[in-house]
Amino acid sequence: MLYYMPLLNYNNSFNDIKGIVMKNCIKCGIEYKPKASEKSCSIKCKLLSKFKANDAGCWIWQGSRSGLYGKVRFNSKTLSVHKASYKEFVGDIPFGKWVCHKCDTPACFNPDHLFIGSPSDNRRDAVSKKRIKMGIDNVFSHFTYTQILEMRSLKSEGFTYDRIARIFNCSVTHAYNIIKNKYRKEL
Ligand SMILES: [Zn+2]
Ligand SMILES: [Zn+2]
Repeated sequence: MLYYMPLLNYNNSFNDIKGIVMKNCIKCGIEYKPKASEKSCSIKCKLLSKFKANDAGCWIWQGSRSGLYGKVRFNSKTLSVHKASYKEFVGDIPFGKWVCHKCDTPACFNPDHLFIGSPSDNRRDAVSKKRIKMGIDNVFSHFTYTQILEMRSLKSEGFTYDRIARIFNCSVTHAYNIIKNKYRKEL
């Protein structure tokens, strides 16, 4: 699947005369008028300039993360990378639906690995693949690094503390403290 093709650079002289500083997109080479220090002409080009494909064909986001998920900032808006990718390469996300991963790799944004589901599909999916280890019953038990990141990313996606506590089988207070970074400050 080829989504992009470098274009020949245009001649800048016309815009130089008008005093508009144009740039060439680092990905597709097209000339555009940048906002701030943006190096890409579009969110699509930004996504495509920051990934590494792995052996499973996942496009792993190389930019910043929010929990386990990649996030991308473009023209002063921050979006989840997998959601931005779905919108750019596949289509609109229906209201109330989630973009889920077939590959169980949250930082992946290969559109072929994404599908539309409900929050519970996403959860079932993660549980069935053992990404979330259930059965931790002790308030004082230690969660793994991955579990803590997962809890925080669920919170950022709108899950309540109560619901997260049920998923991870711990007290609401414990979930709250972990998400608010009261324990395990090193994470
Ligand atoms: Zn571009
Ligand atoms: Zn993937």
